Amino acid sequence: MDVKYVRTTCPYCGTGCSFNLVVKDGKVCGVQPYHRSPVNEGKVCPKGTYAWEFVNREDRLTTPLIKKDGKFVEATWDEAYDLIAQKFKSFKPDEMACLSSARTSNEENYALMKFARGVLKTPHIDHCARLCHASTVAGLAASFGSGAMTNSILDIAESNCLFILGSNTFEQHPLIGRKIAQAKMNGAKIIYADPRYTATAKQADLYMQFRSGSDVAILNGMMQYIIQNGWEDKEFIEKRTKDYEKLKEVVMKPDYTFENVSKISGIPVEQLKQATEWFAKSEASAILYSMGITQHTTGVDNVKSVANIQMLTGNLGKPGSGVNALRGQNNVQGACDMGALPVSFTGYQKVTDPAAYKKFVDAWGFPDGICESKNGYEVTVMMDVLTDNPGELKAMYIMGENPMLSDPDLTHVEKALKSLEFLVVQDIFMTETAALADVILPATCYAEKTGTQTSTERRVQMWHKAQDAPGDAKLDWQIISELAAKMGYADQFPYQSAEEIFNEIAEVTPSYHGMNYERLEKPEGLHWPCPSTEHPGTPILHIGKFSHADGLGVFHAVEYKPPAEVPDEEYPLILTTGRCLFHWHTGTMTRRSESLHAEVPTGWIEINPEDAEKIGVVDGEIVKATSRRGSVNVPAKVTKDIMKGVTFMPFHFAECAANVLTNNALDPIAKIPEFKACAVKVEKIQEA
Ligand code: SF4
Repeated sequence: MDVKYVRTTCPYCGTGCSFNLVVKDGKVCGVQPYHRSPVNEGKVCPKGTYAWEFVNREDRLTTPLIKKDGKFVEATWDEAYDLIAQKFKSFKPDEMACLSSARTSNEENYALMKFARGVLKTPHIDHCARLCHASTVAGLAASFGSGAMTNSILDIAESNCLFILGSNTFEQHPLIGRKIAQAKMNGAKIIYADPRYTATAKQADLYMQFRSGSDVAILNGMMQYIIQNGWEDKEFIEKRTKDYEKLKEVVMKPDYTFENVSKISGIPVEQLKQATEWFAKSEASAILYSMGITQHTTGVDNVKSVANIQMLTGNLGKPGSGVNALRGQNNVQGACDMGALPVSFTGYQKVTDPAAYKKFVDAWGFPDGICESKNGYEVTVMMDVLTDNPGELKAMYIMGENPMLSDPDLTHVEKALKSLEFLVVQDIFMTETAALADVILPATCYAEKTGTQTSTERRVQMWHKAQDAPGDAKLDWQIISELAAKMGYADQFPYQSAEEIFNEIAEVTPSYHGMNYERLEKPEGLHWPCPSTEHPGTPILHIGKFSHADGLGVFHAVEYKPPAEVPDEEYPLILTTGRCLFHWHTGTMTRRSESLHAEVPTGWIEINPEDAEKIGVVDGEIVKATSRRGSVNVPAKVTKDIMKGVTFMPFHFAECAANVLTNNALDPIAKIPEFKACAVKVEKIQEA
């Protein structure tokens, strides 16, 4: 028997744990610890433990499929490429859009970004960061000049006080949870604010249960209390920031006294005082947040408020501090870095900046140029355009995304995707989105390819190929390159390996400039920015100065605004959504893992016992949950862990899809939807 161990990086959350894939006779059959990773030190969570189980499933896509008379029929690669090339050439550039993937590598995201802008010449490219941390990218860029997690995962253990807000870290990023536990063992105070009493709440020294959507009010109230007590870092404010007076004017308003904040949020005044005192008086305080902060119509405001309190207390640019946005998927940071966004090329170089635009035109050398120097549509806007302006967008190329389960208001998404004249989906399984495609291209998963991914802490790490792809499936970058060649651009896509693509990325991207595969082979990888091959990488951002041209951080005065949809007589409950420990995103991979499926086979809706009693439902009963957008039948979980008046559903499960209910109201800047708060009613299902 031939057995080998191949080191790679976990394909699930943004923590970026490394492990060894066990390969027997050419097939992946297990996961073994890899102790030299500083991130996870040989440990993995359940998702990582079973990250091999979906790889050799019989229902992997293994050959191109073309839909004929409503049914998929097998095709050769040439037939599929010819059809796609012919169709894409029949549309005007602005009529086409691409969705890239936070599950694929940096090289593959770069290839699709180049394909969209250079081959299709469309500005419309985006990916699912729009649904999770688009507000982080926009909010932190406005505050600090750079939109990424400021400190490293290892640094969390160094903190004296951790304020975790809108992140169920112990379930969503379990190995970051381990660092929180280490901080606690080192004596740090742990403050946790969330509408649900989660696994993370159980670790906290102070748990504050609050109404979803009241984050700005809470943070403004805390800042008022800090200023009243003289706990602000005057030297930091003076030397490193600007617009403090504008902030002060807003947060000192009577609206943000703790008495008022308590009414808005539901948090008792004494808890707010305790949390603020611990946070402001500690030597180094860090904020950890996730989608509880970002997935709101006020997502950018929420992020700016987090940045405000960290500048106010001088908790930036030093160990144990920072604004630590915990990114969801394994490579969502990398997909953003690679320019799979409608506003930027790699490394956040703006498409509307003439110098950046010229740089990419010159570097790529497309004989007929690239897309215009203008911003494209965000994925959420694409869906609105498809339903509201028929004929404006006609074709879409979706790589490794499943908007038919991940996007808000699924009835709307289905209508949008069905209105397309031509849809290509490139994936590893037949997803809910692939089922709507005209052509499906079979791709490879992380275990079948070499490449890089960038974790939430800006750490770039390697994947290594452990086994061959099934059937005729191909590498995503290879598919894109071959399609580009079919469309007449072989010279611009000459790649023979992922490494060649990475070298091109390093060439055109200042923050990746000093990276190469040889350096990235080290167990610890490299944090960007890494501007030269001698540079050691940058685990902590903003030491000494911020990334704005003048080096200063900018305070933003932000007022509290309620969610777009609030409870009323007809829909009296708030619905908030999220993930669970055993599943990931739309469940395409985790629901195909027998072990993970055995742990959690389906979804549920959490409801407080008082609300359940009013409706007359008991734990385990199937109930009907309804919003203004649709209804789903789902098992009720009656639990005191959820606040009265609030419900929660995980969004992994197609048979009781939370996103049938969610609201596609958008943050005006980041265009992120308000997944975290919409109004619903829950009813007993009457027997026929
Ligand atoms: Fe994978 Fe995240 Fe679990 Fe680490 S914590 S093993 S990266 S899912």
